[in-house]
Amino acid sequence: MHTPSSWQAPPLPQPGQALADLPTPTLWLDAAAFERNLRRAQRAADAAGVALRPHGKAHKCPEIARAQIALGAVGICCQKVSEAWPFLQAGVRDILISNQPASAAQADWLAGWAAPRARAATNGTGTGTGTSISTCPPASPPTGHPTAPGDTVNPAAEPPCPADAPPRLAIVVDDRRQIDWLDAATRRHGSRLQVLVEIDVGQGRCGVHDAQAVRALVAAIDAAPGLDWDGLQAYQGALQHLRGADERRAAVRAAAQRTRAIVEALRADGRPPRRVSGGGTGSLAFDLDPAPDAERVLTELQPGSYAFLDRDYADNQPDAHSLASDAVFEPALFLSSTVISSAGDAVRRAGAPWRRVLDAGLKSLATDSGPPRPCAPQAPWSHWQANDEHGVADWPADAHPPAAGQVLQLIPGHCDPTFNLHDTLVVVRDGRVEAVWPIAARGCSR
Ligand code: PLP
Ligand code: MN
Repeated sequence: MHTPSSWQAPPLPQPGQALADLPTPTLWLDAAAFERNLRRAQRAADAAGVALRPHGKAHKCPEIARAQIALGAVGICCQKVSEAWPFLQAGVRDILISNQPASAAQADWLAGWAAPRARAATNGTGTGTGTSISTCPPASPPTGHPTAPGDTVNPAAEPPCPADAPPRLAIVVDDRRQIDWLDAATRRHGSRLQVLVEIDVGQGRCGVHDAQAVRALVAAIDAAPGLDWDGLQAYQGALQHLRGADERRAAVRAAAQRTRAIVEALRADGRPPRRVSGGGTGSLAFDLDPAPDAERVLTELQPGSYAFLDRDYADNQPDAHSLASDAVFEPALFLSSTVISSAGDAVRRAGAPWRRVLDAGLKSLATDSGPPRPCAPQAPWSHWQANDEHGVADWPADAHPPAAGQVLQLIPGHCDPTFNLHDTLVVVRDGRVEAVWPIAARGCSR
């Protein structure tokens, strides 16, 4: 260590601090709006008798998962096996990996976490050195990022580690090889995993295409003593972001019809799926539509972004029907950013746009779904471009651009990859910091 003891690390946000006093850029959550979003989705799912399993990939934050489960969510989804680890450490006990394992090693991590627990000498310390399957929690995480020194705000509590049943873990497959990995891993660990077969319902991404292919995979799952076939995953991602409500409704219906055809074929075999999991923020209102002709087929919904409503989802037209229901959400996630330069004014020609440079670029905001939007009362910019650390914004000549030093609150274009850029989420209520939550699964991409 070569730092003089008088030096101080830049401070982390502290509970009680005013939002206006936080350094920028800071990713923050409007606690009241967030809680309204969680309650709306839960009420809508409860009213329809459908299970809500929010997607942890959207936020990667165990505190958020705990809030969702406390309100009635049956568990969470994770997209990657390693992403589940911080959630397990935080006590989440029902996780669906809504994606295929990519290797025998990943199958092994998951099977190890589902292993029956014994009270080992290392029980509860999390620092066990052995490779015994019975250590609790597992002896070594597969990945993740270390907690930074000084990252002590709201530290994750040592996971509760009762000698209770192992967590209920499920994973999605669409290939025989994945089943073989899971079979071998569950035999090695003496554990049980639930397996869902993914069907492609129009996205052209993962998933098998007909009932015959599902049957072949179910037969392989049946032959594996540690695997239980639990049903289907039928997720159509592309339709979530269709702008028009009518377009989205039609696409949801088409996906539901494809799903229903396969469900009915399996039912005719005497093997109906126990669950059919899918859906996202853009389809939620239609997935829950009680209309008799709505083709409701999903028994479990996987939305993630509904809790935050990023700019891309906020731009979707709400369904007129959903306006009367609870499936309507509001932005709850923001990034504060300071105007660091207005120096371009000195060379601006009459009638040209006003250029302002912000301290938030690609390293604090994901722009794959388009630019962020400034919150009112700031008028929107007419053009925005992200550099690594800079956001370069132009306002029309007749607008009132912000002054250098002014802080803007931005609605990120896409919440999932924006969370993945930050260590912590600052929770704000009534203009003050209430808590700082680690984004503990940040970077867990294996
Ligand atoms: N389920 C799966 C498998 C996904 O890949 C996604 C998003 O990509 C979702 C659900 C829903 O996410 P969101 O509601 O954030 O669009
Ligand atoms: Mn997303």
